[in-house]
Amino acid sequence: MTKTEREPFRDFLPGFRWEGVDRLAYKAEGSAPFKAITRQVLFSDPALACELRYFEIDAGGHSTLERHDHVHAVMVARGSGHCLVGNEVRTVKTFDLVSVPPGTWHQFRATRGEALGFICMVNAGRDRPQLPNEDEVHALRADPRITAFLDDRPS
Ligand code: MN
Repeated sequence: MTKTEREPFRDFLPGFRWEGVDRLAYKAEGSAPFKAITRQVLFSDPALACELRYFEIDAGGHSTLERHDHVHAVMVARGSGHCLVGNEVRTVKTFDLVSVPPGTWHQFRATRGEALGFICMVNAGRDRPQLPNEDEVHALRADPRITAFLDDRPS
């Protein structure tokens, strides 16, 4: 029998899986740019105001470059890679914490030849992500470090 979130205990399984948790598409295909990323919803209880998800990006993949009014509280759980928050690009590694404020461009990239997995807490009720338009991408690319990040050759 498949375990559900109502069970008090669910085991961590090989391959960064959890008992009773499906590995899902990151988003609907074609809805936004992304590459080689999956989503597992660990906690999504109507009694909670937040959800906890595990995302995993294969080497060379990335999440969507986006912003929204809701915030993210992230802990890297596997591997390392690079992350953009606002105008700051950083390497991130297992157990590092990342806070994404409201209205802030952000993206995770698995840039180091290994998978990058992270646990992300998010508001249960949240607005739709916005994608950058051409002018906004141009403005971001004015910073050479962000251009290098977006082109998968972070410094
Ligand atoms: Mn987001």
